[in-house]
Amino acid sequence: MLDFKKKYLLLLIVVLIVMIIFTGCNGHKNSHENQLEKENNIDEKTKQTKISERLKDRKEKIIDKYKNQIPKEWGENVSGVITRIDTNKKVVALTLDACGSSRDGYDSKLIDFLKQKKIPATLFINFRWIINNKEIFMELSRNSLFTIANHGTHHLPLSVSGKSAYDIKGTTSVEEVVNEVAKNELKIQNLTEKKPEYFRSGTAYYDEIAVEIVNDLGEKVIGYDTLGDAGATFIKKQVKNAFLSVSSGSIILAHMNHPESDTAEGVIEAVPELRSRGFQFVKLKDYDNQLISKVKEGR
Ligand SMILES: [Zn+2]
Repeated sequence: MLDFKKKYLLLLIVVLIVMIIFTGCNGHKNSHENQLEKENNIDEKTKQTKISERLKDRKEKIIDKYKNQIPKEWGENVSGVITRIDTNKKVVALTLDACGSSRDGYDSKLIDFLKQKKIPATLFINFRWIINNKEIFMELSRNSLFTIANHGTHHLPLSVSGKSAYDIKGTTSVEEVVNEVAKNELKIQNLTEKKPEYFRSGTAYYDEIAVEIVNDLGEKVIGYDTLGDAGATFIKKQVKNAFLSVSSGSIILAHMNHPESDTAEGVIEAVPELRSRGFQFVKLKDYDNQLISKVKEGR
């Protein structure tokens, strides 16, 4: 009887000791994790403050430089907008826009196809799309097939004087141009640790001063020479025909935010045919020093 009691007591003590050790470790682990999290938050804040300060400084300089300049051009193809790769090689660059707001869908069929066939692409992503698709954004940013590029903050035509495109009123001043570019640049940089090098505005409209401002902010403005899906409104055959109309050095524009569209179907049909004609898909980044503007070239 006594033996049984002793055994019972011993077991109880062992259980208690294990519980104390476990709780202690956990407590220690939690406080250690909290400390790390605190340090990370401080790091993140310091990093953000530093970037914001640099931006403030850049913004003042840019406003000073451009405040009295009056633009002469307005459109998709104004001076400084890159539309092609300067090459005789059969290479083409696919660029995909993710526009955001009410258009913040994700065309997984299209992206899965690109992954499966190892087709590189440059992805122009809007601030609002990032907010609404953060996990997908992070996954895409980690995939070496893709380059993340800047598609603006509020998805506005880029104007220093409030011009409109497709009934969308553009930015109205040099400061607004800087904000439209820089807020999403900061978002992308904070999330991916990489500053985006390419920019395309919402609607792809600009005046030439706005293009210069984007360049001063360290980003190249990317247009297109092949309209791949006309804002994801093309039917499958039109998408296919558009893709098959490319020539050496073409930059194709299509959309990755309209899963309901025919874009993926058209691309899936066009790609094998393009490849059999000897075309290879490349990233803009791999041809960075051969990016040219049609307007400049024609003059
Ligand atoms: Zn867009």
